[in-house]
Formats: sequence, C-alpha cells, structure tokens
Amino acid sequence: MTFDVFALRPHIIARMSDRWIDVAPRVWVRRLEELDQTLGLVIGDDCCLVIDTGINAEAGFAYATAIREKTDLPWQVAYTHDHFDHWFGTSAFGESAIWAVGDGAHYLRVGDEARKIRAASYRREGREEEARRIARTKLVPPNCRVSGAIGLNLGGRTVVLRQVGLAHSDTDMVIEVPDAGVLFAGDLLENGAPPSYDGAFPYEWPQAVEYLLSWKPSVVVPGHGDPADYWWARAQARDLAEVARMCGEVAQGFLTEEEALAHSPFGEAPMRAALDRCKALTPPPPPEPAVPAAQPQTPPPPVIVYDVFDYSVDLTQR
Ligand SMILES: [Zn+2]
Repeated sequence: MTFDVFALRPHIIARMSDRWIDVAPRVWVRRLEELDQTLGLVIGDDCCLVIDTGINAEAGFAYATAIREKTDLPWQVAYTHDHFDHWFGTSAFGESAIWAVGDGAHYLRVGDEARKIRAASYRREGREEEARRIARTKLVPPNCRVSGAIGLNLGGRTVVLRQVGLAHSDTDMVIEVPDAGVLFAGDLLENGAPPSYDGAFPYEWPQAVEYLLSWKPSVVVPGHGDPADYWWARAQARDLAEVARMCGEVAQGFLTEEEALAHSPFGEAPMRAALDRCKALTPPPPPEPAVPAAQPQTPPPPVIVYDVFDYSVDLTQR
C-alpha cells in the first residue's frame, strides 16, 4: 500500500545534512547525521524495500519523504535488528509488510524497554525535546517473520532477507541484493566507529560475518557509517575474530584483561564491553554436589551364627 507522507506531514523535511548515496542501479543508501546512521532503499519494478526507518517518528517521516523523491512505488520494510534506532521511525510508513527476525511480541517488549531507557538517557543529557520525541514513539512491530532465508520479489529483481543467528544481537537480519552485488549488513559492521558489543555474542559474531561475506559482495552497507567494499568488510571481520580470540584467551587465563584492553583492535571501551558480555553469557559453574547428610545410625541386624555340629568328633573322648 502506498502512503502519501507529503499530504499528512507537508512540513516535514529531511535535515540538510542528510543525503543519498547511489551505491548500485536503483539501490540507495540514506546517510543521516543523527547517530551517523545508514538506511537503505532497494527499488524494483513493482515495489521498493525500505531497510530500517530511523530513531523516531520524525526521522521516519523525513526518510519516507526522501524516498518519495526517488520512487512512488509501494513499499515494504525490513528491520536489520531490534535496536530502537533501526525501527522507531516506522509509524511514518503506514500499513505495510514489515519483515524481521523475531516476532511482534518480542519487538514490542524490547521496544517499550528501549523507549524508557532512551528517554531517560536523553533527559540526563539535557535533550528534553529528543526525550519527548522518543517517549511518544508509536511502536510498529514486524508482521512478517523471517526464519532462515527468503527471497523477496520486488518486481524484476529479487532480494534475499537472511537471518544471521547470534552476532551483534539475536535478531540480526541482512539484506542481499545479488543482481547489484550489495549487502546491507545492519550493525554487524560499522564504518567510522567500533562495532557495538552491548547485548552482542562476541564468540559467534565473526563467524557470522565471514559466512555473509562468502559470496563476495562488492558493496557492503553498514548500519552506521559510509558504505564500503568487500575488503573493508573482510578486514573488520578479522578484527571481530581477534576480539573473540582475546575474550577466549582471557577466559582461559592466557591473557590478562589489561593486556586485552591495551591491544584490542577496536580500542578499550568495545573490548571492555565484549569481555563483560562474555562473562554474562558464560553459564555459572554447576553447584558442588551436596555431601549427603550423615544418616542416623541404626544398629545392624544381629548376626546369628549357627554352629555346625561335627558328627565325626567323638565327644566321649573328651
Ligand atoms: Zn544495533
């Protein structure tokens, strides 16, 4: 279903600094000043796919408005994962198919929590207007669940929505545009800032990225920062693997935490977050088996010894 944002919000305009980058034929990337965020747009013959919608309703309206400069085709939406900055702008897109890993109830629960936490954090930073904006965000959960991988026909081109498994989060989904050689990687990769390990799975993450790069996409679009090429993504996968290795070696006592912090490829803060996350994910050791309490001693049954009468003994001789 198409949705005319101009008619409803004629005053909404994108920030002057927000801009489009043309990464392949009819594949666009929207770069936002806020959080250095990167959203995506893939246009087919019949409809277009909107990849992530921004941090709040206003950002969503600005993005929807910008999309209408490019195409008036109906849209579908894909969420790369459940972190608030990737889907809180969806109310601007009206009724549409929304694809994601994880069901609607999960998104509502996580979104409600994030809305409270972010509003409080904006208030602490003195950004009252931002706090109010996020507090009144209408949560729009996904209505089409992706499990494994699905091909989505946009008309004349098919994109692949692929569940990643455990990596940056437990709801990661990437979008592949095979005919254009483009991979939308969500926050599995970040350009210009270290990847975020909050809520992440440091041991599984690098393997996931390595697998996703196995078809050697020529353009890789991160969730934050500029799009880059395959070799950039491959280098970041190597750094993610190094962090995983360091986490393992700290756990085994081969490295100290101080050594890992000092030599982390992403710097101290992400390494600290990764180490903390590994500790949180490591199940506590099983409890020591309880020593059975001493049972009150009951006296053993009496032993009855039967004398065997030996008939060979001649008692008269005694
Ligand atoms: Zn994220």
